[in-house]
Amino acid sequence: MVGAPSIVWFRDDLRIDDNPALVAAVSRGEPVIAIYLLDEESDGFRPYGGAARWWLHHSLAALAPDLEGISARLLLRRGPAEQILPALVAETGAGAVFWNRRYGRAEREVDARLKSGLRDDGVEVSSFAASLLYEPWTIATGQGTPYSVFTPFWRACQAAPPPRAPLDAPTTIDGWAGQAGGDDLDEWRLLPTQPDWAGGLRDAWEPGEASAHRLLDEFLHEKLAAYDTERDIPAQGATSGLSPHLRWGEISPNRVLHETEQVRRGAGAAVAAGATRFLTELGWRDFCSHVLFAAPDLATVNWRREFDAFPWPPLNEAALAAWQQGTTGIPIVDAGMRELWRTGTMHNRVRMIVASFLTKNLLIDWRLGEQWFWDTLVDADAASNAFNWQWVAGSGADAAPYFRIFNPELQAKKFDPHGEYIRQNVPEWGTDAYPQPIVDLASSRKAALAAYDVVTRSK
Ligand code: FAD
Repeated sequence: MVGAPSIVWFRDDLRIDDNPALVAAVSRGEPVIAIYLLDEESDGFRPYGGAARWWLHHSLAALAPDLEGISARLLLRRGPAEQILPALVAETGAGAVFWNRRYGRAEREVDARLKSGLRDDGVEVSSFAASLLYEPWTIATGQGTPYSVFTPFWRACQAAPPPRAPLDAPTTIDGWAGQAGGDDLDEWRLLPTQPDWAGGLRDAWEPGEASAHRLLDEFLHEKLAAYDTERDIPAQGATSGLSPHLRWGEISPNRVLHETEQVRRGAGAAVAAGATRFLTELGWRDFCSHVLFAAPDLATVNWRREFDAFPWPPLNEAALAAWQQGTTGIPIVDAGMRELWRTGTMHNRVRMIVASFLTKNLLIDWRLGEQWFWDTLVDADAASNAFNWQWVAGSGADAAPYFRIFNPELQAKKFDPHGEYIRQNVPEWGTDAYPQPIVDLASSRKAALAAYDVVTRSK
């Protein structure tokens, strides 16, 4: 259908830089319609958590003027993609639809049905790789199966053809001039109002593509040399802070890889070590999607099925609430949980400590922790969140052995030796106002090991 406009459907790729779907739409040479659909109704779609909705609002609010700057308008519509998109094609007479791929099962199913339905109607449809360095099905073991251990997975990635170079942002777009009604972003009510709990998120973050690039630049030039040695120290601010920007696709992993390689070239040993470690973390991000692709129910089903026998005791709701609110009386745990509530993020080391404490010292099912993180993290990601929860709980792929139970006090001594991170987040620490521990670390550890015995015996 020559002369018919091209639709570019934005999803987890809220950027104009290195956006293959956008580049394809522009290259087709017809006017471009840019759309974002808020789809909370399609079968199997997991509704976004509160912090994610906050981020999404601001990310869309940043993308729209970025697109206008190159002469395209961002259309917003809400509803199931399988209704909205074909209706938009019919309404505008579009001849082509372009999108970047996503990897959850429900999303893939919707995309596959849309692709074949639109093609049956004579519409050109193309999808692209844009959110991972290596698409999940392109990396496989010698037997053709998915990897379940990170190190050989990452080795195989490095032996595979290198990820494509990032694509430049189009400098101008022939934006479609027709009329199509869209929603006003505020109508979606993605921001909290009663109460407005997002003050700490506003202080901590600036969603959007420009800020993602600024953070990367700052990280590569100011922090990379110390990353390998300091990334585990939560008070240090030694990591990139890129995870929500990567989650929402405001920056692509290909761009991050490319820029990191540029800085590494000709740099000294500390930068080289930092770069290798940083890219390995991006590798973990890919690995999480690789595992999710093979095990789509990762957020609800034990990856190691023998964990189905784990004897979780009846839920202790008071203990769960204390963990969520950061009032367990274990300072490093409370610091992490309060950082999460205030800012929508938590340092990786502390995420591991609080997850271990919930699942092992409090013997609360990892799924409840995963759900809390899903609701409170600005980087809440279907693959990374579920994978890491199972990894800490011991039920996951390449998981830490269950019997290696973190002692949160020793962890705090090692990674927050001066209590700086704890004081930043728990101002009443050390005063009478700070609660007594809700659990004894030594006896709860023993109880966890006894519970795990049931799993070992069931094998
Ligand atoms: P950096 O140290 O700068 O790392 C660079 C990038 O690598 C990150 O932005 C992230 O995209 C990726 N990365 C780093 N560590 C991991 C990891 N362990 N797994 C996967 N990717 C990683 N990360 C999310 O993006 N979303 C989640 O929902 C999420 N949930 C988690 C839940 C638990 C229980 C744990 C232990 C970890 C979770 N992580 C999650 C991983 C990790 O904690 C964050 O990616 C990291 O803290 C983000 O900070 P950063 O961007 O400064 O990381």
